[in-house]
Amino acid sequence: MQRSAKSAPFATEFVKSAFALADCPQWKRAEVALAGRSNVGKSSLLNALAGAKGLARTSKTPGRTRCLNFFAVGETHAICDLPGFGYAKMSHTDAAKIAHMLVEYVQGRNNLDAVAILVDCRRGPDEEMLSLARMATERGIEVIAVATKCDKLRQSERAAARKRFESMGVAPIFCSVTSGEGIEELRRRILAVDSVETSKRAALP
Ligand code: GDP
Repeated sequence: MQRSAKSAPFATEFVKSAFALADCPQWKRAEVALAGRSNVGKSSLLNALAGAKGLARTSKTPGRTRCLNFFAVGETHAICDLPGFGYAKMSHTDAAKIAHMLVEYVQGRNNLDAVAILVDCRRGPDEEMLSLARMATERGIEVIAVATKCDKLRQSERAAARKRFESMGVAPIFCSVTSGEGIEELRRRILAVDSVETSKRAALP
């Protein structure tokens, strides 16, 4: 039977919130973290990946916006929705706590296989996102660059947008939840991370 080029929406289920590394779930799932500045379109993208409206509302529930939110995806994958950077109403103390938790997670989470870094395609990555990408790369964690809200770009503006991502060292997947562009490609990228890493991990004690 010929495989469909379309990937089905992820069967996604909220598992738990964690405030520290020790609270993160213990599992053999391949884990892909979603990172991005507040308002970049992270919740919309998570909902689009799962084909479920309101799924990411879980991550926006008061009390859960400042922690790591874990979702099981099918039988073998997991998504960790990281707290949004740079939320305008956040105090310096809270921002520092979140920054600390993110560094702890990216540098210390053994289960982490890939980080999808979401950046508004009209802006390009800032120093915080580049530093996150460097941190992941140093640990051998795959970086997936996602250029969000690409429906806001004209075709003629794509090349310049692509250039803005060069500093991340990986070509971005242009995504839009409005037009649907890139959603399936991102699903496939996440699934590909899983299949490579799962076989590696199976060899570990
Ligand atoms: P978050 O803070 O990163 O979770 O961002 P949200 O998912 O809440 O989105 C922030 C705003 O951007 C909302 O008004 C969304 O409707 C809008 N948005 C999100 N994704 C897209 C997109 O692909 N295209 C357009 N045009 N707007 C988007």
